[in-house]
Amino acid sequence: MTETGSNGYDVIIVGAGPAGLCAAMYAGRGMLRALTIERGAPGGELLNTDVIEDYIGFPSIKGWELAEKMAEHAAHFGATFATDTVEHIRKAADGWFDVTTAHGHLYRAPAVRASASTPAKACPIAPCVTARSSRAKCSPWWGAATRPSKRRIT
Ligand SMILES: Cc1cc2nc3c(=O)[nH]c(=O)nc-3n(C[C@H](O)[C@H](O)[C@H](O)COP(=O)(O)OP(=O)(O)OC[C@H]3O[C@@H](n4cnc5c(N)ncnc54)[C@H](O)[C@@H]3O)c2cc1C
Repeated sequence: MTETGSNGYDVIIVGAGPAGLCAAMYAGRGMLRALTIERGAPGGELLNTDVIEDYIGFPSIKGWELAEKMAEHAAHFGATFATDTVEHIRKAADGWFDVTTAHGHLYRAPAVRASASTPAKACPIAPCVTARSSRAKCSPWWGAATRPSKRRIT
């Protein structure tokens, strides 16, 4: 296990779908050092959608195109990405979160934003973040993704 970026990040964002990209954009804009870990290409379900006709401001846009615009917008504010699969999130004794990945990396941060889409209760990557302590939100709609959570999981 390689410890990566210890003390280097204010928040780790899991998943770069619309919710994660939105969180990454706001984190960067808020001067937070954020790392977004995405197992595939940024965009999430947008990449499985041909044409989107109900995202306000875009009467018709290809899913991949909107994904690209969202990723560029996040990067514009300094978002950093890692391509990897998060396997576990564990709260350590010092109150920080240990985020371990399939590539054998360990990332540590005082806050985690889970944006991996799966409903929180069934989330396979966060079994150690209890329902009571988890404020992680899984945004079911792109519109909901515009309400980023900068709250820290305590
Ligand atoms: C065919 C289709 C059409 C849709 N049409 C519309 C529509 O017209 N309007 C609308 O508002 N909504 C629509 N939706 C719903 C919309 O796509 C989702 O609500 C939205 O994508 C949710 O965004 P999200 O970021 O929460 O999750 P997702 O888009 O699912 O993104 C989650 C990301 O997390 C990543 N991830 C998951 N697990 C891990 C892990 N362990 N480690 C690292 N990364 C991980 C995934 O690879 C993914 O990129 C549609 C969905 C589908 C499938």
